[in-house]
Amino acid sequence: PAAGTLVLQVQQARKQFGGLVAVNDMAFSVHAAQIVGLIGPNGAGKSTMFNLLTGVLPLTAGSVHFHHQGQMRVISGLPSRDIAALGMARTFQHVRLLAEMSVLENVAIGAHLRHKGNDVQAVLAGLLHLDRRIETRLLAEAYRQLQRVGLADMAGAEAGSLSLGQQRIVEIARALCADPVLLLLDEPAAGLRYQEKQQLASLLRQLRAEGMSILLVEHDMDFVMNLTDHLVVMEFGTNIAEGLPQYIRQHPAVLEAYLGG
Ligand code: ADP
Ligand code: MG
Repeated sequence: PAAGTLVLQVQQARKQFGGLVAVNDMAFSVHAAQIVGLIGPNGAGKSTMFNLLTGVLPLTAGSVHFHHQGQMRVISGLPSRDIAALGMARTFQHVRLLAEMSVLENVAIGAHLRHKGNDVQAVLAGLLHLDRRIETRLLAEAYRQLQRVGLADMAGAEAGSLSLGQQRIVEIARALCADPVLLLLDEPAAGLRYQEKQQLASLLRQLRAEGMSILLVEHDMDFVMNLTDHLVVMEFGTNIAEGLPQYIRQHPAVLEAYLGG
């Protein structure tokens, strides 16, 4: 989709766990080639929102629309593998690499997931029985993604030997194998050193320049303020403020709710 086109639209999203309303009348949008930050205090409903977007959890009410072939199409209710196939990819809050496998193989799993859905264990079992030609094709795709993120030099290294910052980038390369329109990142900067955060931010800017949309949950305010084009603030399951980062930084409701001011 062309820059500025709507790619994700959440309307009146609601998620109830028994009597607890985790997401309540939540609404926001993401446009093409835009980096959107989702921030808010612990328990605000951010991770639940990610799970609703990716189809890991069903909505109690409301809808999610996602760009597909020039139209916005309802994706709420679809299984997560179908949503992934439409072009939504994610990374998780905790690194999920297989430490003893090579970086290249870890990324190749992503290339395989693209065709098989999101169950890593099932895919691993499947990889052992793959046709050699398919395997070569997956490895070639994985290598292209490592080049794209600047880690081709590490393709043969054991994933567990990389720094945390590099491992996060390998996870992004894995997600990129699905050729996503929208990349969801759950706390990508958590635990990283200053320089690693800078490298990550520059990679995300590069992906944006390539036309990708990124939605990230992140607690590191400097990282968020310097990187995002638009911020959505969540509290008690709902959108309490949104706008440019420099506007959100000053917003009274935000200072009160989130920055503890
Ligand atoms: P955040 O990611 O913003 O910290 P979460 O989405 O994890 O917030 O949680 C929002 C609320 O929903 C919290 O009160 C949490 O305890 C609750 N919650 C999240 N997942 C579940 C679940 N599977 N079952 C019951 N309650 C849940
Ligand atoms: Mg969370």
